[in-house]
Amino acid sequence: MLSATGPKDGVGWPTEGPPEVAFIGRSNVGKSTLLSSLMGRKGLVRISADPGRTRLINFFELTLFDDANVPHPIRLVDLPGYGYAKVSKEEKKTFRPIVQRFLEDRTALCAAVLLVDLRRGAEIEETELAHFMRDHGRRVVLVGTKADKLPKHERKPAAEKLAKQLEHRVLVVSGETGAGLPELWKRLLVAFAPTKP
Ligand code: GDP
Repeated sequence: MLSATGPKDGVGWPTEGPPEVAFIGRSNVGKSTLLSSLMGRKGLVRISADPGRTRLINFFELTLFDDANVPHPIRLVDLPGYGYAKVSKEEKKTFRPIVQRFLEDRTALCAAVLLVDLRRGAEIEETELAHFMRDHGRRVVLVGTKADKLPKHERKPAAEKLAKQLEHRVLVVSGETGAGLPELWKRLLVAFAPTKP
């Protein structure tokens, strides 16, 4: 749909309309790969060679069709990644205000998907974000990414550890293999559900 630099300067956020779900996570967590896989469109979400450069909010508008073939527009929102060492100073000035403002103010936002690399677990940023989202009454979908990078027997313990760290249930996915994506779509549909007839 569009890439926004900020709500006021440059390219602004699109006018609120269809319900939105935002995706947020550390740079390199696999957000672009997951979004591309969710939409079934490889290459639609640009995968940056320099993760620190992604300072835009990307809006994707999709149409879902219900059982009666009635169309329902929705939006997936790709928030900027964080935690990239080289931009840590700039990040404080740009990432936080942009993301916090979006999570605080955006009325159309139904849920925020917080992505955490399953191998890495939650760190201070994820803990803060989870609290921030909860404090602002946001529905959180917690997703452990890159499951395929862990041996099978290590996936459940890693997910349990993450669930304990953030006191939230975890959905394990792989944008690469597509594992967990139908379940993630189900959770997103529940978040979008109030707009259904
Ligand atoms: P982003 O910075 O969060 O958007 O992360 P990307 O989607 O660009 O992924 C960062 C790197 O991890 C890329 O090299 C991807 O190919 C790789 N990657 C992303 N998701 C997965 C996954 O589910 N499994 C594996 N094995 N690699 C992944």
